[in-house]
Amino acid sequence: MSAPARPAPRRGLYDDPFWDHVDRRDLRLQKCTDDGTFRYPPGPACPTCLSLDWSWEPVSGHGSVLSWVVFHRQYFPEFPPPHVVVAGELAEGPILIADLAGELPPEMSAGTPLRIRYDAATDPDGRERTIFRWEIGPA
Ligand SMILES: [Zn+2]
Repeated sequence: MSAPARPAPRRGLYDDPFWDHVDRRDLRLQKCTDDGTFRYPPGPACPTCLSLDWSWEPVSGHGSVLSWVVFHRQYFPEFPPPHVVVAGELAEGPILIADLAGELPPEMSAGTPLRIRYDAATDPDGRERTIFRWEIGPA
């Protein structure tokens, strides 16, 4: 079975290390070296103390549902409807928005436990890479 096609992620100065870690199935976020705050999306300064010092540190990959949306219209050929996208709050605090792996469970609600799942995927140019998605899982 071939890896599913996915649009290439937007990359840049602060996003490159994030996606490089995802390719190694090692989710890491920027962590402020002054006050320990994790942040996402990547950027130059800590949102709480404005420090410019950070390191890329591993996160648990566990979180909980904040909200979700079901797309019934197809915007990308790679995502046929119904396409479920979840805003999940990591245990470390930042919010990650990602696809939901599998079907939308009827019992899903705010606070439902989530965990990050990694899968192989292929960019439109044929490059193989790793994607992450939320899946329903124990806290
Ligand atoms: Zn800080």
